[in-house]
Amino acid sequence: MARTTADESSYQTLARWLADAKIAVAFTGAGISTESGIPDFRSPGGIWAKYRVVEYQEFLASADARHEYWRQKSEAHADFADAAPNAGHQVLARWESQGRLTAVITQNIDELHQQAGSQRVLELHGTARRIACLDCGERYEVEPLLAEFRRENAVPPCPACGGRLKSATISFGQMLPPEALHESFALAKRADLFLAIGSSLVVEPAASLPRVAKEYGARLVIINRDPTPLDDRADLVIGGSIGAALAGVDAALELKEN
Ligand code: NAD
Ligand code: ZN
Repeated sequence: MARTTADESSYQTLARWLADAKIAVAFTGAGISTESGIPDFRSPGGIWAKYRVVEYQEFLASADARHEYWRQKSEAHADFADAAPNAGHQVLARWESQGRLTAVITQNIDELHQQAGSQRVLELHGTARRIACLDCGERYEVEPLLAEFRRENAVPPCPACGGRLKSATISFGQMLPPEALHESFALAKRADLFLAIGSSLVVEPAASLPRVAKEYGARLVIINRDPTPLDDRADLVIGGSIGAALAGVDAALELKEN
């Protein structure tokens, strides 16, 4: 069992493993974006402390539920709109450009990995920066439609077909995108180093991806402030701040190679 640390020697260990890895894959959750000012779900003061969850079936069935969903989105969107990538996102993007990291699998819906420059990003939960029509599939920029919602205090209909518009995110009760999911498990199986970063690892597929990677022979590293149910299986567990940890590992890599 790995002991949780956040010190130079754990950074050096991970730097060595990264340098040796042929296929390193990062899997990220809400925790990598809290240092950009976006609250996570399960921490105190997180999103779940604040809003009632509108599930997918309810969204489909009820105009009132759709209105409540849009009201919540209209409030929460400010967190996203002004957020910029932090050191954690930047280090992962740099590692990809240096050929050290093959891909980022993320549960996040904030597009901060892409903004930081990550190229291969598999979004398991979609993106809050787009609106999608559930009836015709058309996609739209979020801001103009949110402005319309606020102005009219009514959910705007799809400009193309009059159908139901929803954030292009995956709600509770909604199917995950099969292609991204399939590719993520394929990557977890091929990886020889798997970094689980900023996820409580309690919901699927977050709970399974690191476990599968480990079962298929990857070294498993967990970087998270709070303990997770998979800490016991990890080769290394790094606690504390994600930004500090990734910057520390990056610095150890630079030192090692210069
Ligand atoms: P979670 O809220 O369950 O867990 C986040 C974990 O990150 C916690 O265990 C916490 O200890 C850790 N953490 C938070 N800030 C940290 C920091 N600065 N340094 C180190 N550790 C830190 O998140 P989850 O497992 O990703 O599940 C929540 C779901 O909600 C996600 O699937 C995602 O779709 C959605 N979500 C996304 C965003 C986003 O896009 N930024 C934000 C909130 C929720
Ligand atoms: Zn439509």
